[in-house]
Amino acid sequence: MDLALLDETLTERGEPPFRARQIWAWLARGANGYDAMTDVPAALRRELETSVPLSTLTVEAESSSRDGTVKTLFRTHDGHPVEAVLMRYRDGRRSVCVSSQSGCPLTCTFCATGAMRFRRNLTAFEIVDQALHFRRLEPIDHCVFMGMGEPMLTLDHVLAAARLLPDVGITHRRTTVSTVGWLPGLRRFVDEVEEPIRLALSLHAADPALRSTIMPVNDRYPLGDVVAECVRYHALRRRKVFVEYVMLAGVNDRVEQARELAELLDPRVFKVNLIPYNPTGRYDGSSRKAIAAFKQVLDRARLPATVRLTRGRDIAAACGQLAAS
Ligand code: SAH
Repeated sequence: MDLALLDETLTERGEPPFRARQIWAWLARGANGYDAMTDVPAALRRELETSVPLSTLTVEAESSSRDGTVKTLFRTHDGHPVEAVLMRYRDGRRSVCVSSQSGCPLTCTFCATGAMRFRRNLTAFEIVDQALHFRRLEPIDHCVFMGMGEPMLTLDHVLAAARLLPDVGITHRRTTVSTVGWLPGLRRFVDEVEEPIRLALSLHAADPALRSTIMPVNDRYPLGDVVAECVRYHALRRRKVFVEYVMLAGVNDRVEQARELAELLDPRVFKVNLIPYNPTGRYDGSSRKAIAAFKQVLDRARLPATVRLTRGRDIAAACGQLAAS
């Protein structure tokens, strides 16, 4: 919901100041419509129904994976596609993966979103509405900014959204912002954010030349500076930085490359997440054997590493597959 529009509408009508909070509380707890908001006067509810839409996004399509993952394709009021994913884990965790932009201006070669046209940044309300959509299905407790887009390019909107999430059931400690290493935003994230929001870095190669070939953004912001910024985050917050490393056969999955990675990353600061490549056309994913051998090198170097569980691949909802087709 556009909470600014809600405020404006309520003020115009001379409603008491607590009204906006009352309505937000209903939404944050998963209300499906104004009908449910029984402590709001019926006449006001009827009026809001026409003047303030319950969501800034409309649902265009929804698919469910065999593993319980749900992917939703939304449209903004001006027609741009946005995708978000709900992941359900066996231990009961419910994690939503939200988009910060429609499309993405960066052009990482392995990512489907990078291949679609960049539309625009999403507003904070458009981001929160993705989470609220899933909250109407069931309680949710984690959020990752790992959908379409680069969060550090629209950090103010991302932070405004993240700051609303605790009301929805997602604490800052269970909120993660992922970046390619867009330095201006990353620096601000380290310097200005006081909330214990987690940081993840999409690294994918320890060698700068190789990284530039698969992530052109690397030419703009040198890897050393990006890693230094993550170290600073850890020094200030005492929270580990997650490193995402997508395993591409014959590209970045050799054991020497694992050694380079172990040399680059301080085990006190970083925790590596090896991500099986989700097919987007251009590459082959590393074999299980290659992933295991790579991980073994990291294990020996005492660099914490896990292999990410792939979710929702059958509905193109997995990492890197969001492209609003
Ligand atoms: N732009 C931010 C937020 C998106 S996060 C960022 O890149 O960090 C999406 C994650 O999925 C990133 O780590 C990205 O590198 C990874 N990814 C992209 N394409 C993928 C693919 N085909 N298979 C597996 N992971 C992929």
